[in-house]
Amino acid sequence: VIMTSSLTFEPVLERIAEEIEHTPGRGRPADYIPALAAGDPRRFGMAVAEVDGTVYGVGDWREPFSTQSVTKVFTLALDLAREGDELWAHVGREPSGNAFNSLVQLEYEDGIPRNPFINAGALVVTDRLLTRTGDAAGTLLDFLRTESGNGALDFDLEVAASETAHGDRNAALAHFMASYGNIHNPVPLLLDQYFKQCSVRASCADLALATAFLARHGVRADGSRLFTRSQAKQVNAVMLTCGTYDAAGDFAYRVGLPGKSGVGGGIVAVVPGRCTLCVWSPGLDDRGNSVAGVAALDRFTTLTGLSVF
Ligand code: GLN
Repeated sequence: VIMTSSLTFEPVLERIAEEIEHTPGRGRPADYIPALAAGDPRRFGMAVAEVDGTVYGVGDWREPFSTQSVTKVFTLALDLAREGDELWAHVGREPSGNAFNSLVQLEYEDGIPRNPFINAGALVVTDRLLTRTGDAAGTLLDFLRTESGNGALDFDLEVAASETAHGDRNAALAHFMASYGNIHNPVPLLLDQYFKQCSVRASCADLALATAFLARHGVRADGSRLFTRSQAKQVNAVMLTCGTYDAAGDFAYRVGLPGKSGVGGGIVAVVPGRCTLCVWSPGLDDRGNSVAGVAALDRFTTLTGLSVF
């Protein structure tokens, strides 16, 4: 089923949902905080947003879930829009080949994280956005509400509190980078912002719509420009190479799209110029990516022939 016309993707989504339902082995929900450990791996939703703002989906595509690291795409874009290339002096853009919460490379690289999508890099981005806006999490939430058209999106303060209670590793990352002068706000304030950011609840529909500026080469839902076409390309490129952590090579091989995952089981993906996708299923593989989510995106690009390659 190679689709190149402007036909709706709905039949493809139906077929994928059907296939996924019969696929055994859904992975396990993240278990580092109780709120995520309760996730049911049988849940599955998938949404497509066209660049014109049309959105549709299958399964649990309107069910809100914990967005977690998917938010790192938006904080990166929001910060890049404000400071441009200056950001890259403080965070790299190379895949890490290590787990998303790894500390090992920081000492060798003088407190400069490998990329903005591992936790260390996301903490740097949130710190810089916090300095520029006074409220990084609030700036993120406003953006998500506006782009998705869903003013009800909000933080899940219970999840944020739970992250704080189990936050030693992120605190260690932030303090270690602060020792190199790469964090500019008090670490407790930064962690509070970062955990609120990760706690945002949104559905596949919300996130597909909110990501659409990346398919529109930097143009927001209201037609204004967030950042340049070149910056949209930069964010998509970093998603492709780093968005699924140490599985980014396999994700590029199977899916062939820029993508960003989170431990809540969500993944967003971009078909530049055409559409955005969001899948959700809470069962993760050992790299922290949704098993059914990656499988569904793999099937989508295979069935439609749409990928950046
Ligand atoms: N809040 C999580 C953490 O910082 C997000 C990680 C993720 O989604 N990969 O550990």
